[in-house]
Amino acid sequence: MKETQLAQISLTQDSTGAIANPIYLSTAYQHPQLGQSTGYDYTRTKNPTRSAFEESFAKLEGGNASFATSSGMSAIQLICKLFKPGDEVLVAFDLYGGTFRLFDYYEKQYGVRFIYVEFLNYEEVVKHITPNTKALFIEPISNPQMIEIDVTPYYVLSKKHKLLTIIDNTFLTPYLSTPLEEGADIVLHSATKYIGGHNDVLAGVVTVKDTELAEQLGQFHNMIGATLSPLDSYLLQRGLKTLHLRLDRSQQNARKLAERCRTLEAIDEVLYSGKTGMLSLRLNKAYDVGKFLENLEICIFAESLGGTETLITFPYTQTHIDMPDEEKDKRGIDEYLIRLSIGIEDYNDIESDIIQALENSKVEVIS
Ligand SMILES: *Cc1c(COP(=O)(O)O)cnc(C)c1O
Repeated sequence: MKETQLAQISLTQDSTGAIANPIYLSTAYQHPQLGQSTGYDYTRTKNPTRSAFEESFAKLEGGNASFATSSGMSAIQLICKLFKPGDEVLVAFDLYGGTFRLFDYYEKQYGVRFIYVEFLNYEEVVKHITPNTKALFIEPISNPQMIEIDVTPYYVLSKKHKLLTIIDNTFLTPYLSTPLEEGADIVLHSATKYIGGHNDVLAGVVTVKDTELAEQLGQFHNMIGATLSPLDSYLLQRGLKTLHLRLDRSQQNARKLAERCRTLEAIDEVLYSGKTGMLSLRLNKAYDVGKFLENLEICIFAESLGGTETLITFPYTQTHIDMPDEEKDKRGIDEYLIRLSIGIEDYNDIESDIIQALENSKVEVIS
């Protein structure tokens, strides 16, 4: 069902019969008459290629409106526009470093309070709700610890206290989970990752069900101009066609690798939720992370995820660089933690590359 929807996502009602969506580069649209519009006036407000992506994506998510943005961060910024000084947002403790940095800025500059809470502990979250609490912000698979949070009780809690539940679903995608159908209010993705899927588009997307929220976000989207270009919108739709195949394969490779890594003496800890292609490894202190990264021949030392290639990131100095050391400590982000985005290569090539890179990175002990 979902596979069919994905494979045929770009089909339009175009009178030409085109199978792939046309890319409308035009920024301006002719008006038939004073006071009339074709529905398109100016590309920041609405563009046919972007609309085609947004409409098909909203359907995929079980939402009513999607907003394609110029990056995942601008998707989060778009959502931040809903808050005013004094509002409080409860944020799941373990999250993407760039989000932490943006929230920190909003707190200092605009007085919106972001309170970090351990969402694995429901009572702890309840304790932090005040009359000023406006929203809950959750990455259901935490980053980089890869712990899956059971989000369902929070949907109920949100309804009770009239909060917005915001889900950053970047790691799961609508193929593996559709939070809007379960009770979330806002879902966002860094579409740069699995949605685009080929490490060649920077993009984000925000999806909602509620029409009032959609209207508000639509206004901000046009106002701040963090909109996605027609070409990038096309590429996202193209990426979606194979999302299921790519994710199935990444997940299969990641599961095998997680199991194998649990048997290696070079690895002290394997952090894997059992879902998606994302996994973190804590190397044993007898191994040199720098050497390990240098020794890789197939896996690539680079900072992103969700593409066809296996990428390995070092959160300590990359994704989480702007997090203060004591905050990193609390989240187990140390100099031995690496994060892997497992690609769709031959599993045996990935495994043997990691094993050879580890074997050649053992620190010589001079006695
Ligand atoms: C990458 C990422 C972001 C930021 O997205 P960009 O497209 O890099 O701006 C936000 N959240 C998560 C979970 C991410 O992995």
